Amino acid sequence: MSDELDILVIGAGACGLAAAIAAHDAGASVAVIEKQERPGGNSSLSTGSVPAAGSRFQREAGIADEPARMVADLMAIAGGETDDRALVERLAAVSAETVEWLVDTVEAKLSLITAYKHIGHSVPRLHAPVSRRGQDLVDDLVAAAERRGIPIAVGNGARALIVENGIVCGALVEAAGETVEIRAGKTILALNGFAANPDLVRRFCPEIAGAEYFGARGSTGEAVLWGEELGAALANMAAYQGYAAVAYPQGSLLSWTTVEKGGIIVGDDARRFGDESLGYSGYAREVLGRGGRAYAVFDQNIFDIAAAEEEFMELWNYGGLKRGDTAGEIAQPFGLDPQVLAEEIAQRNQAAAGTAPDSHGRRDFGLGLLTPPYYIGRVVPGLFHTQGGLRVDADARVLRPAGAPVPNLFAGGGAAAGISGRAGALGYASGNGLLSAIALGRLAALAAARELGSTP
Ligand SMILES: Cc1cc2nc3c(=O)[nH]c(=O)nc-3n(C[C@H](O)[C@H](O)[C@H](O)COP(=O)(O)OP(=O)(O)OC[C@H]3O[C@@H](n4cnc5c(N)ncnc54)[C@H](O)[C@@H]3O)c2cc1C
Repeated sequence: MSDELDILVIGAGACGLAAAIAAHDAGASVAVIEKQERPGGNSSLSTGSVPAAGSRFQREAGIADEPARMVADLMAIAGGETDDRALVERLAAVSAETVEWLVDTVEAKLSLITAYKHIGHSVPRLHAPVSRRGQDLVDDLVAAAERRGIPIAVGNGARALIVENGIVCGALVEAAGETVEIRAGKTILALNGFAANPDLVRRFCPEIAGAEYFGARGSTGEAVLWGEELGAALANMAAYQGYAAVAYPQGSLLSWTTVEKGGIIVGDDARRFGDESLGYSGYAREVLGRGGRAYAVFDQNIFDIAAAEEEFMELWNYGGLKRGDTAGEIAQPFGLDPQVLAEEIAQRNQAAAGTAPDSHGRRDFGLGLLTPPYYIGRVVPGLFHTQGGLRVDADARVLRPAGAPVPNLFAGGGAAAGISGRAGALGYASGNGLLSAIALGRLAALAAARELGSTP
């Protein structure tokens, strides 16, 4: 790897790979360093869903959408609270060109999801691999980087930034037991957030500190720590993405489609304990509040819809779900009270039929009544990733509290401030993570190349 790069990208997830591809295509010399033994990070564990407002794929599907609508949706789910509304507006504005760039230039195989619209979006706007596996998106990004000859050095963790007279000039990198200096004109932090660093989670997101982290191990928060040393501003630090239904003990996702389409979640006492339509992220805290032991209950009609998702069927095929013709039959494997569970299903059905109000205020019961056969799976809450990070400008330059950029330093994805509100998990709309990663990575690279005077 050259030690005189135009642009050094730290982290080989979606943000770093997108940044590297865009930097190369803008005429800059670029290399990516990755701490782990393979690229992908959290991006490869995600469902690969990227939102875009006004994409040509939406137009082709007859869906009217525009950035202003997306901003309204994101601000609504965040309860109107964010440290950085300008970032929400910027990412919504570039979302369509970002997804079209992924398809046209990166050659990523994404298509618009029309079968459902996930939490936070008023129209279908998630674009994802058919498999709904982020690994496929990462594979497409890695292939695009390889076609361009961009070096991706795995097993090379950045230990510190090189800072001279307040100017960032690259990074000190651990490689094969040695520390190497990699100097670069611009440095892009694409190393995600701090969810794998329990101290930082306790400090910034205490409400989810008791939940297990289900993301990639590399998210240990160096961007925050280095940013603090440099006097950079942090924003939206208490925001995170949770997931209320990680299958236990399998550790895979029990698809939230099961709940959106009308399933319920009960605790150890076989009783529901809240309005599940808060969404998979927002409801994680409620499950954590029940000591983290809960069970998702749904029926055959819902199963048939979720069956389109590979990961769901894997869970079923590996025995992670139980089926029964009565509430008693599904209660038995988990030692739940059969009578209480039957009562809960009956009360939920009355609310769905409109003959009684729901005691938890839930209004949306998906497909309607739950009818036998029923399914059940044990779930625990998980922390997927943190949303807060370094405050950045419209071109992903890292900023100081007064608004001046830290010279030559950019950040995107989980390393940067997110667009999921100021605090907690309720403000996370599906796709916020990857949109910040890919859009900010690309914007950072384009701005960095422009500042360096690179030409394609
Ligand atoms: C199970 C799950 C499902 C999800 N589903 C979705 C979804 O469908 N849509 C969505 O938008 N978001 C989703 N998310 C969130 C999303 O995955 C992240 O927001 C996004 O991947 C962040 O991208 P990134 O490039 O910033 O980070 P990552 O993809 O994590 O990449 C960062 C990389 O930097 C490396 N790194 C860290 N520190 C260093 C260092 N010091 N030196 C060198 N390298 C370093 C890491 O090892 C990692 O490979 C999901 C997350 C999880 C866990």
